[in-house]
Amino acid sequence: MSIEISKIAQGLAPSATLAMSARAKELAAQGKTVYDLSLGEPDFNTPQHICNAAIDAIKAGHTKYTVASGIPELKKAVAATYKTDYALHYEPAQVVVANGAKHALHNAFFATLNPGDEVIIPAPYWVSYAELVKLSGAVGIIVPTEESHDFKMSAEQFENAITPKTRMLLLCNPSNPTGTMYGRSELETLADVAVANDLFVVADEIYSKLVYDGNDFVSFPTLRPGLQDRTIVVGGVSKTYSMTGWRIGWTLSPLHVAQKIGELQSQETSNPCSISQHAAVAALTGPQDCVASMLAAFTQRRDYVAKRIAAIEGLSCPAMTGAFYAFFNVKAFLGGERADNTEQFCLELLNQGHVAMVPGSAFGCEGYVRASFAASLEVLRESFDRIEAFLR
Ligand code: PMP
Ligand code: GLU
Repeated sequence: MSIEISKIAQGLAPSATLAMSARAKELAAQGKTVYDLSLGEPDFNTPQHICNAAIDAIKAGHTKYTVASGIPELKKAVAATYKTDYALHYEPAQVVVANGAKHALHNAFFATLNPGDEVIIPAPYWVSYAELVKLSGAVGIIVPTEESHDFKMSAEQFENAITPKTRMLLLCNPSNPTGTMYGRSELETLADVAVANDLFVVADEIYSKLVYDGNDFVSFPTLRPGLQDRTIVVGGVSKTYSMTGWRIGWTLSPLHVAQKIGELQSQETSNPCSISQHAAVAALTGPQDCVASMLAAFTQRRDYVAKRIAAIEGLSCPAMTGAFYAFFNVKAFLGGERADNTEQFCLELLNQGHVAMVPGSAFGCEGYVRASFAASLEVLRESFDRIEAFLR
């Protein structure tokens, strides 16, 4: 008898972003030059002083188990960052260091959701949200948003989606995949609905440092007094410091939640990599000019991508104010010879033009595709030349 796959695993869709990038790598392994705009992964090397801290950690013998919820230095550094940046007071014990922000989200859902609980997820949403919520036994309630409203959910849309089973709002700001960002007053109206309906909020703020044009990023728990008690903030070093492979993320939550998340982690994974944790301390407490210079490069790329999209008739895209994604409308190019849907569109573009992007369907929003501009200007130039040729 062959081993049967569980119902829960059968019901799980693999990560479309990782799948697309795997397909691009496959083509590249066959000797083809592939322009990969599929993955939200900065192309910069991790800054040298962070790498040095990791080497020093190995030399100092930090190669053993740590406390499952993370080393005290890193918890302290995370709490200090939120104090300095957003005037939020968290005790280090409210921080749990996880194996990346994806794992931090998993922890947040598993520690707080019961089977049948409803979680409101504005779409387009990041690929893993719906699947992680489903894995926890809860039910994702998808609220579609419009390009004309920069893909932001209004308080009214939020309110209309609430039922007696609703427990949580899951909000990504700045947003992957849309590249847009909620402003203070928009967030305040959402926060008021959450409070009025006694909901709690998971605020994925992993892109909080990747904000353009000097705009202010507003951290969710700062919006109203007492909101910290009903919010779990998710963050990490993957994007800000170009540390995707190091696998360090975190949650900031009320103490009783943090304790439970720590216990969960002690059974599931034990501590995140000890060496990476020391590197993350260096990232948070060391010089921050590396963040500014990466942001400057992203700004240039964002401007370039916006210009190229605007120059192609039939494409449109909301102004990109945060993160490093362009989520653009390709509806004018569907239904003809090229492709019926965005999955086919992306496959054809990959096969014919050797450019990898992710179909909007993976983010719960058909008719759009996502290009990550965490790639060099040369790669972006060649990619958009090819996209233009493909559309012609
Ligand atoms: N949240 C969002 C919105 C993301 O885009 C990502 C990117 N992978 C994550 C969480 C997970 O980040 P990490 O690589 O730290 O797991
Ligand atoms: N968050 C990135 C993306 O959306 C990395 C891929 C992933 O973790 O699924 O492309």
